[in-house]
Order: sequence, then structure tokens, then C-alpha cells
Amino acid sequence: MRISTTSAEIRSQLKALRGHRSIAFVPTMGCLHAGHISLIEKARTLADIVIVSVYVNPLQFGANEDLDTYPRSFDADARACADANVDFLFHPATLYPEHGPNISLKTTKLSDCLCGAARAGHFDGVVTVVNILFNIVQPDIAVFGEKDWQQLAIIRCMVSDLHMPIEIVGGGIVREADGLAMSSRNRYLSDSERTRALAISRALTAMQQAARDGETDAEALKTRARNILQNAAVQPEYIDIRHAITLKEEQQLKHQPTRAFIAARVGKTRLIDNVAINTPLSCDGQ
Ligand code: AMP
Repeated sequence: MRISTTSAEIRSQLKALRGHRSIAFVPTMGCLHAGHISLIEKARTLADIVIVSVYVNPLQFGANEDLDTYPRSFDADARACADANVDFLFHPATLYPEHGPNISLKTTKLSDCLCGAARAGHFDGVVTVVNILFNIVQPDIAVFGEKDWQQLAIIRCMVSDLHMPIEIVGGGIVREADGLAMSSRNRYLSDSERTRALAISRALTAMQQAARDGETDAEALKTRARNILQNAAVQPEYIDIRHAITLKEEQQLKHQPTRAFIAARVGKTRLIDNVAINTPLSCDGQ
């Protein structure tokens, strides 16, 4: 595995390969866990060369968010990437001009709800950095996790709107044995907070099960989830049921692909998770 820290370096390393070998790319902010590794493994099955980036993107953090304390563990990340047969690891010190970007991308649709509503400018920061990374790596395929479903939807939209010749592939959510969705931020949780955090996946599973049992009223499903969170003293930022692709709010589940989304604070840690919820007649296959 080769590690590069500048865009010039990774560009020159990739130059000889372009055109002969397909390239799959997995962008991350590091502190890698089994969720990231599953995306790397997926990338491995889709292309000849696998590139991972580790970059904590300041542009996607709000003023009062955890940029400074975001966990960083590059040596362990490099070992995990080598073990997962990654070919190139890109770890830039920065991707922006010294005084910040002069040009950035702006999301319009898809970012006014869910995490976008609570984190002003977050998805502008995400699409700007992903665009820069795509320009440097120029992958054929990029793999993103369904854990950040809204991000995946927005990246798909960016690639389509900007006519980028890149196939975006989603990877399923990897969970701990007890259901907690893996996240770099889970390490902020104390033991008791971690136990309470389980209410998030329990609430999502309860909505999924109730929908499978025939409940079609979104408000009734959300009430179930709200009660489960409340019993665990977990404060939801949102509990939402939305169309999986347009992210439009759904009142009634019919045959459309639909997902349930929760963001919640457990102590000071903000966690997000989502599941597919299908009525018995729905057919999005999950
Ligand atoms: P991050 O390092 O948090 O920016 O995440 C990098 C990529 O890993 C994103 O595409 C995330 O959606 C994905 N990811 C994070 N957690 C998980 C998980 N538990 N399962 C699958 N993918 C994940």
C-alpha cells in the first residue's frame, strides 16, 4: 500500500494506472471501524485498484461542532487499510487554499431536511470536499455508506447534476452485535450512554416491524419510536419517515421505497441511524 499526503503525489502515482485499471474510491474521515472496512471490501469487488482517503474536512463542521475533538487515529487507520488490501491511502494535511476555499459548491434540494436542517452548511462542505477528492482521484466508482443516507442521496444527486462520470455505490449499515450502528463518534459514549444509545436502533427496528405488520400511518410509527427514545432518556433531534430517494416526507406508507431516520443526542454525542421501512406490499428488497 502506498501512502500519499499531497494531491500531486497521488496524481502522479495514479497516472500510470489510468486507462488500464478501474479505480474504486472510499472517502472517509478516518478512525476506521468495521463499517468503513465493509465499504473497502465492497470497493475491492468492484474495481482493480482501491483508494481510501482519510481527511477530517473542516468545511463540513459547524462552529459549535466537534472538529477539534473529532477522533483521529491515522497509524491504526493505515494498518487497517493495509490489512484490507487497500492499494493507495490518501491522507492530505489540507485540501483548501491557506485562507479557506474561494469557491465552494452549494446544495439546494435534499439538504433542507434531516441533518441538513440542523447542521447549516454541512452538506455544502461535504459536496465541496467530495468534489475536490473526485477531481484528485478521478475514480470510476465511489462507495459511500447508507449509514449517512442523506449524504449518499446528495452525492448521487451531485454526480448526476454535474455530469460526473463516476458510479456511486451504497454500502449497507454495519452494526455492533447489539444493533448500535458503528460510528467513529461511538467512542465518545460512556458505558451508560452507550446502553441508552441502543434505543435509537431499537426505535428504528420497532418502526420497521410495525410497518411490516401492516401499520401504514407514519405518525403512528413515529410515536412508537418517540416512546422508545423517551423511555431511554434519549432526546431526538428528529424522527422522520421519508421517501428513500427524494427524501420527501411521507404521511402514509404505500408502495414507495421509504426509510425511517433518527438523529439523537446521547449526552453530548450526536448519533444518526436509519432503516428501510416497508409495508407488506412494498418492494425495495430490504
Ligand atoms: P466518515 O468517516 O464518518 O465520514 O464515513 C466515511 C464513510 O463510511 C461514509 O460513506 C459513511 O457513510 C460510511 N460509514 C460510516 N459508518 C458506517 C457504518 N456503520 N456502516 C457502513 N458505512 C458506514
